[in-house]
Amino acid sequence: MKVLIVGGGGREHALAWKCASSSRVHQVFVAPGNAGTAAEPKVRNVGVAADDIDGLLRFAIDEDIDLTIVGPEGPLVAGIVDRFCAADRRCFGPSAKAARLEGSKAFTKDFLNRHRIPTASFATFTAANFDDGYVRAQRLPLVVKADGLAAGKGVVICETHESALSTARAMLGGSFGAAGNTIVIEEFLQGEEVSFIVVASDQQVIALATSQDHKRRDDGDKGPNTGGMGAYSPAPIVTPEQHLRIMREVIEPTLEGLQTDGNPYRGFLYAGLMIAADGTPNVLEFNCRFGDPETQPILMRLQSDLVDLCEAALDGTLGEAEVRWDPRVALGVVMAAGGYPDAYRKGDPITGLEAAAALPGKVFHAGTRIDGTRTVTAGGRVLCAVGLGDTVSAAQLQAYNLVHAIHWNLVQYRLDIGYRAIKCKEPVS
Ligand code: AMP
Repeated sequence: MKVLIVGGGGREHALAWKCASSSRVHQVFVAPGNAGTAAEPKVRNVGVAADDIDGLLRFAIDEDIDLTIVGPEGPLVAGIVDRFCAADRRCFGPSAKAARLEGSKAFTKDFLNRHRIPTASFATFTAANFDDGYVRAQRLPLVVKADGLAAGKGVVICETHESALSTARAMLGGSFGAAGNTIVIEEFLQGEEVSFIVVASDQQVIALATSQDHKRRDDGDKGPNTGGMGAYSPAPIVTPEQHLRIMREVIEPTLEGLQTDGNPYRGFLYAGLMIAADGTPNVLEFNCRFGDPETQPILMRLQSDLVDLCEAALDGTLGEAEVRWDPRVALGVVMAAGGYPDAYRKGDPITGLEAAAALPGKVFHAGTRIDGTRTVTAGGRVLCAVGLGDTVSAAQLQAYNLVHAIHWNLVQYRLDIGYRAIKCKEPVS
């Protein structure tokens, strides 16, 4: 069969690599892909942008693609699945209506409240009803969020009322474009963050292996927020009891709520959770797709066929599907371009990729492209080097051996990915 992966980041490289390993698949296309997907056996890049839904649909029809898997949120929120379904093309992901769980934070907060799913207390404002008094009456810190998609930048944690007020006014004034026409102001939650990702099909659900990422740029979880500087799976904080609570208190009521509201969900569903000291799994956000960089270590551990899993979800037979995992730990270290997450360098030649390919583990590409005979940087997060090991420390060592084999001008990466898991006792699930 032929599979099309939409997107061009590290998540999509991992999805393409995993689909290509299926004995049922003879060709994987990635639109637009990167230098890593271009070099993968059975995989070919296609020059169609991830947000060009017309172009993607035309390609899927012309090439008679059997299954399309959508990586990024943009095309999902814009309705790619609805368009493919209307043309009778199998496309794995939520409809535009269900993807509002990621596309609108105000929608999601209201949804969580109505269905009694734990989350931070909040209020929603537009420029017309913004209330200084509300902000001044809240305990600090406060979290100010743009309602719409803002490329991971629309959340600001404010330590003073003045900064909360000025952040809110800037968002409402257009600093994030239309994404900030509505804002959510919410309570700051304490705890430990966990990514919980499932494959869902209406109310049938299979939880994927747990994971945790490091969002801050610098060691010790300091510095500015980024799209993610590394991730590992499993997350030792998610004990079997915690797993059960997350399923019962978050995932099941969410899928049930979406169905009762008339927006049944099919696709990867990612819950960003803050686990409170008493174990309450508070929802910080939902993503309507697989996480990046969590996908890379999670798929390194997946032993079952990903294509079978997506097809079972599309066929409504997820309840009968079985998923097998490598019991080892997978840990991914993101290598980023100089300057990231602010304005970053592009076009720096990358050396050492061949040497790294001969080592154990796997280097997934994100922001890379081929320039003549060289591979050069082309994005903020450039590579994700993933190691496997019987312990977190062993996986970490393997990942950093890959990292140390690779170089480019002003490359930056954290030296402590996985330190929280190492501090915890070694994982059991
Ligand atoms: P979001 O896109 O809503 O997940 O927010 C991005 C990041 O901001 C999260 O991964 C958290 O680290 C942080 N964050 C968001 N909301 C809160 C909150 N209510 N309390 C504490 N941290 C938060």
